[in-house]
Amino acid sequence: MLTSVDTKSRFSRRTLFKTLGLGGAAALMPARSRAAVLPDTGQEMATLLDLNKCIGCGACVDACRDVNASRYPEPKKPFPVMYPSRVKAEDFSDNRHVDNRLTPYNWLFIQSATAEGREVFIPRRCMHCQNPPCANLCPWGAAARQGSGTVAINTDICLGGAKCRDVCPWEIPQRQTGVGLYLDLAPSLGGNGVMFKCDRCSDRVANGKLPACIGACPNGVQEMGPRDVIVAKARDLAKATGGFLYGLEENGGTNTIYLSPVSFEKLNAALMEGKQSGKTGANTSERVEQQGPGRPHLARVADVMAGSNTLAWAVLLAPLAGVASAFLKGTRKLMNTSSPQPAVSDAAARKEERNA
Ligand code: SF4
Ligand code: SF4
Ligand code: SF4
Repeated sequence: MLTSVDTKSRFSRRTLFKTLGLGGAAALMPARSRAAVLPDTGQEMATLLDLNKCIGCGACVDACRDVNASRYPEPKKPFPVMYPSRVKAEDFSDNRHVDNRLTPYNWLFIQSATAEGREVFIPRRCMHCQNPPCANLCPWGAAARQGSGTVAINTDICLGGAKCRDVCPWEIPQRQTGVGLYLDLAPSLGGNGVMFKCDRCSDRVANGKLPACIGACPNGVQEMGPRDVIVAKARDLAKATGGFLYGLEENGGTNTIYLSPVSFEKLNAALMEGKQSGKTGANTSERVEQQGPGRPHLARVADVMAGSNTLAWAVLLAPLAGVASAFLKGTRKLMNTSSPQPAVSDAAARKEERNA
C-alpha cells in the first residue's frame, strides 16, 4: 500500500502570491542583514524565525526545492516486496509537487494556525536538536550532528528503516522507497528506502552562503548566527514584544527558535483542532489538515534522550554504528568496482542515477 498523499490541496496563500506574481517581486525586495551568517567553523549555529514577519508567501519553500532538486530521490520501480509484508512502501515520487507537508521532495513547508483572531504562518522543517535522538539512535550512523549544530542524514548510508523518524519528537524525516543502499544489500529484508530532511543547507553554509530559504525570504523572517547570540536576541525580542518562544527547551534544546505573538499552546491547539475537524487552521475554504504525518505539532517536548534507557541504547549503538557504517561504505565501494555481473551493474547504474 502506498502512502496516501493529498494531491489536490495546495497552500492557498502561497498560490495566491504566485498568482499575483509576488514571488518575483519578493526577490527584488531589499535583503535583510546577512552579517550573522558564518562558515561552518564548528561553532554551534542557531536560527531564529520571527513569526510576526512571516506572510506565508512560500518563497522559502520554492527556494528550498530549487537548490535541493538535484538531491531528490529517483526511485527504481517496481519496488521490491518487503518481508514481513507489514513494511509498507512510501512513495512520493509521483507527488513531488506536494508542498503542504514534509515529504522526501519537500523539506520545508508553511503551516498555518489561527488563534486569538490572528493567522500565524509557521515555516516548518527539521529543528536541528542539540542532542538529536535521530542521530544518537540511528543504528547505521547515517544521521549525524555536525559541529555547527546541523543534523544531517548521509543518504549514501541510510537504509530507510525510519528509526530516525520513530524517535524524532516531530517525526520530521521522510522516507522514499525504491532508492538507496538497501536495494544493493537486502532489498526484501532490510530498510525500505532512504530518509530525507533539511540539512540546513550545510554545503552552502560551509561555503559562506546563506541557507536558500533564508536568502529567499522577502521579510527577513529567519536569521542565523552563533547560538548564544541568537538565543539572547530571541529572549530580548520576546521580552520587548510580549512574545512567546519555542525551541529553546524542546527536546532538551534545539537550534531552531520560533518567536510568536501568540502562545504555542494556542497555536498547537489550533493545529490539533484542524486535524480533528479536517479543516485548515487558516481562513480558507480549502480543507488542508495542519497537523498529522509530515505536519509536525507545536506541543512542548521533553528531552527524548534524557531517559536512562534511551541513553543506554545510544551508548550501546554508537560503536555498532561506526562498524556498520564502515562496512556498508566498503561494501558499496566493492560492489561498484567489481567485475561486471548483472546485480553489480544494476547497483552501479542506480548509483550513477542518484549522482546524476
Ligand atoms: S527535529 Fe527530529 S530529525 Fe530534526 S534533529 Fe531533532 S530529532 Fe532529528
Ligand atoms: S535550510 Fe536549506 S534544506 Fe533546510 S529548509 Fe532551508 S533551504 Fe531547505
Ligand atoms: S518565511 Fe519568508 S519566504 Fe517563507 S513564507 Fe514566510 S515570509 Fe514567505
